[in-house]
Amino acid sequence: MSNKGILVLYTGCSGVGKGTIMKKLLERDSSIRLSVSNTTRAPREGEIDGVHYNFVSREDFIRLADADGYIEYAEYCKNLYGTPKRQVEEMLEQGYNVFLEIEVKGGLQVMEKFPDVLSIFILPPSMEELERRLRGRGTEEESVIKERMEQAEEELKFKDKYQYRVINDDVETAANEVLDIVRRRLEDSYR
Ligand code: 5GP
Repeated sequence: MSNKGILVLYTGCSGVGKGTIMKKLLERDSSIRLSVSNTTRAPREGEIDGVHYNFVSREDFIRLADADGYIEYAEYCKNLYGTPKRQVEEMLEQGYNVFLEIEVKGGLQVMEKFPDVLSIFILPPSMEELERRLRGRGTEEESVIKERMEQAEEELKFKDKYQYRVINDDVETAANEVLDIVRRRLEDSYR
């Protein structure tokens, strides 16, 4: 039996509520850790550097990419986002189950590099509801909302590449479903 944690690829379109589900998972299960990504996007109000993201310049981002410092990275709505390798490797070594909350292009890179990755796609109950949630967040301008809705349509085309799809109709139910999926995989890996 290995003490190494498992890697979980956790994807869902912007506004679907994956961050809210993630918060619940972290509260409920101390074996779960969330990888903190690097991004060139500007912080939103309330976002803390080093907690929600490492906010970096494009130059620094590219420097780390050139040094092979990312598990994956991708451009999303004109900003770069990437998963720093070292941090994830360390957490897995320590036995944590590490979630990568990332978009589809990065997700596909992870599936290639780690064929055993547990992959979960969070779905909105409907596109109308997704748009309502994006607007309700009140953090993005109209043009950004439009861009993110278009991006969502694109991302949804890849949902079947993921092993599990969870609809976020109710946050509690969705969080329970994700926890069940992770625990089942852990049980299988102990057999
Ligand atoms: P947001 O700007 O809303 O925080 O994130 C936009 C999208 O980028 C979301 O789908 C989010 O999951 C994704 N994202 C966050 N970090 C990473 C990362 O390290 N790599 C990739 N490929 N996507 C990421």
